[in-house]
Amino acid sequence: MPKYVYDFTEGGKDEKDLLGGKGANLAEMTRLGLPVPPGFTVTTEACRRYLADGAVPPELRVQVTRALRALEDQVGRRLGDPADPLLVSVRSGARFSMPGMMETVLNVGLNDVSVRGLAAASGDERFAWDSYRRLITMFGKTVIGIDGEMFSAPMDAMKRARGVTQDSDLTAEDLGELVEAYKKIVQEATGRPFPQRPRDQLDQAINAVFDSWNTDRARLYRRRERIPHNLGTAVNICTMVFGNLGSNSGTGVCFTRDPATGKQGEYGDYLPNAQGEDVVAGIRNTLSLADLAESDPKSARQLHSVMRRLETHYRDLCDIEFTIERGTLWMLQTRVGKRTAEAAFRIAAQLVDEQLITMDEALQRVTGEQLARLMFPQFDKSAARSLLATGLAASPGAAVGAAVFDSATAVTRHAAGESVILVRRETNPDDLEGMIAAAGVLTSRGGKTSHAAVVARGMGRTCVCGAEAIDVDAESRTARVGDTVVNEGDVLAIDGTTGEVFLGDVSVTTSPVSTYLEEGLDAALAEADADTAELVNAVHLLLQHADATRRLAVRANADTADDAARARRLGAQGIGLCRTEHMFLGDRRVLIEHLILAESAAARTAALEALTPLQRADFVELFEAMDGLPVTVRLLDPPLHEFLPDRTELSVRVAVARERGEDTAADEKLLAAVERLHESNPMLGLRGVRLGLVVPGLFAMQVRAVAEAMVERIRAGGDPRAEIMVPLVGSRMELHLIRDETDGVVAEVAARENVELDIPIGTMIELPRAALTAGRIAEAADFFSFGTNDLTQTAWGFSRDDVEAAFFAAYLDKGVFTVSPFETLDVIGVGRLIRIAVEEGSRAKPGLKMGVCGEHGGDPESVHFFHEVGLDYVSCSPFRIPVARLEAGRAAIAQDDTAAGLAGPR
Ligand code: ADP
Ligand code: MG
Ligand code: MG
Repeated sequence: MPKYVYDFTEGGKDEKDLLGGKGANLAEMTRLGLPVPPGFTVTTEACRRYLADGAVPPELRVQVTRALRALEDQVGRRLGDPADPLLVSVRSGARFSMPGMMETVLNVGLNDVSVRGLAAASGDERFAWDSYRRLITMFGKTVIGIDGEMFSAPMDAMKRARGVTQDSDLTAEDLGELVEAYKKIVQEATGRPFPQRPRDQLDQAINAVFDSWNTDRARLYRRRERIPHNLGTAVNICTMVFGNLGSNSGTGVCFTRDPATGKQGEYGDYLPNAQGEDVVAGIRNTLSLADLAESDPKSARQLHSVMRRLETHYRDLCDIEFTIERGTLWMLQTRVGKRTAEAAFRIAAQLVDEQLITMDEALQRVTGEQLARLMFPQFDKSAARSLLATGLAASPGAAVGAAVFDSATAVTRHAAGESVILVRRETNPDDLEGMIAAAGVLTSRGGKTSHAAVVARGMGRTCVCGAEAIDVDAESRTARVGDTVVNEGDVLAIDGTTGEVFLGDVSVTTSPVSTYLEEGLDAALAEADADTAELVNAVHLLLQHADATRRLAVRANADTADDAARARRLGAQGIGLCRTEHMFLGDRRVLIEHLILAESAAARTAALEALTPLQRADFVELFEAMDGLPVTVRLLDPPLHEFLPDRTELSVRVAVARERGEDTAADEKLLAAVERLHESNPMLGLRGVRLGLVVPGLFAMQVRAVAEAMVERIRAGGDPRAEIMVPLVGSRMELHLIRDETDGVVAEVAARENVELDIPIGTMIELPRAALTAGRIAEAADFFSFGTNDLTQTAWGFSRDDVEAAFFAAYLDKGVFTVSPFETLDVIGVGRLIRIAVEEGSRAKPGLKMGVCGEHGGDPESVHFFHEVGLDYVSCSPFRIPVARLEAGRAAIAQDDTAAGLAGPR
């Protein structure tokens, strides 16, 4: 039969999957010979069985009995024994720590009889009743599901009646009275008395921990943290040790370094005469480790040496729970501690400095997400601020601006030089312009994968979403929270790192890490205090190591010279995607209209010729900004009607004009074109290479502009390196046709100008058919660039804009997605297409250059996949470049690690 129960002496820190984090580390500490109260762990497998079958596996009860008996024999006491009871804690502990999500019950084994035995054996009546009232409280809350308020109210009343403020001031009699009251509460809530049989308490508590895996808040937490729902939790049964046995007892938490700032040195809080969560619950003021060293030097010394031992063993920041029972130290938990982004970088660099870890290991200790967090401007925490509401921290950053309630106002106010916060109930694709114009986006509805959140993250816009306390009324241009009304123009400050929304201005500061990334080390260190300098130096150290280690090159998705320059400062090694559609917007829109409306070849040529010099000038600037580095220009991709007026608006305009008897000939012509080009599924319509094949001269004009810009740069002594990329290719023939045309134009320009031009011509792989026929397409391509956004849309058969708002939340809820496939590449499906294309493409054309230019190129997890599948580069928005650099370095190390275990060539 499966082994569902492991003694603490049996496991170790690497068995987190089976024993959960807490259990695995308790076993590890036991193995290290540290003072851990004896106990055993019920595996996550038992939990999974229980959740699947709705009942505990029958073998589990038997195995618990045997483990319990062994424990009783070891400590020489029996669970709930009337004379001298063994008490245990029943503690949840999943693979990934989920702070505050699941519960623990202490003092299991106490009942009306054994409480007296405990009093006698300990010689402390008060302690015994304190323990019993704690058991009923925790059991009542966790196992029975009674509101905690029901227990805290009588406690507060009792304290008031006795004229004391702290529960440690209540006497044994007081606590005895409370126990009676608590038992009544249980009786009333369940219709049954508080369970008196110790083994019933134990079994029920184990089931309750299993059940706590599936509470709403646990599910929600897992969704946010991307923890799979099917792992289950382990349960740890641990001999109780008592911090509530008087003033020479107590309980505490400590860290081997400061997890908030990363400052070197131990940090801890201690509470005398207390148990369990009292320390973090903030019921009394805690003491520092220095205070402990004064009151109990022996225990403090011992704790210090355990901390050092643990840090040496784990070679990382450790987070520790301990209890002192009458001068004896007990270790109750340790884990590699969670930390802020700042602490992660500082500690990693410190540990390298102390030669406790290697540079490679240090790089594994930090993440791209953490780096991204360090790059956002920050609210000045010391500034005065007034909290309006709290929502989800959807996209980090600190944004201040005037509240606006629609996209158009955001655009106009922004154009007038004002900073605005776009406040919407929820956003939809129509809000995009407003989101781009806004400094930050605030919504009252929707989760972290809502349109607002996803889009804001994608473009690095600060966003707080789902701030449900805010009632947004776009109609009247107001937002309300209780009596507070926010009108259009009122200043809001939103913190995308914490989800906080403030009324009024809060000052922000540029993050020192941003200064470092954009302006270099000296600039960042110039005004830095010691802590900041340590942080900046740590980022520098780790990023440099990542650059030295990574195989993937990192390019930018940049359409303008400004973006290109910024990207270059941030470390871009070229442009992987220059979209050309923005070059047709604004004033130039009419030129596209002329092209679309052209009735003769001559008119068409004229329209194209008007566009060429404008395009050429754009490219010249871009090539200059990226001199010496590759610039991949994508030929026009979106459907033409995107450049034309809205169909409904135009028909209304025509109708009204006709009514008034005005001349409508031009508008009618335009309307006819709009109608001709109207598509019900534009995403799957006339766009990309199809446009190039259907609209004569369009792509040739773009290619000519690229070639002539190259010539201009070369003549100016520059080193332009253009690459031309054809979007939405599905067949080899499409690419052949465009390629022939393109090669012809380049050759013609080269001959005319007498300049040698070498412009690789490649294709995007963004349709399943392209991926599946990559071997054939490769024959006509100099490079592949995976367009993972369209590839995701076409592989799944849904359009991002249409479905994100409609059902993504439900899909995340139901576990179909653990994360939006537009955020992190769907490795299983879309990744398979990429793998096939990479394999077939490089078989057909060894050495074929391949990269990715979807937003996934800046997503940490996806970067790891792109490394593993063997791409040459990733390309992402400029501000994600440092993230991609770091993650590409981490990916290279991860692969080396596994490779080390697998003999043979990679
Ligand atoms: P969490 O995962 O929420 O930290 P724990 O299982 O660690 O929950 O327990 C909650 C509190 O009870 C912690 O402060 C822990 O140190 C304390 N505790 C757990 N087991 C025991 C025990 N056997 N003896 C004394 N205190 C315990
Ligand atoms: Mg704990
Ligand atoms: Mg595309």
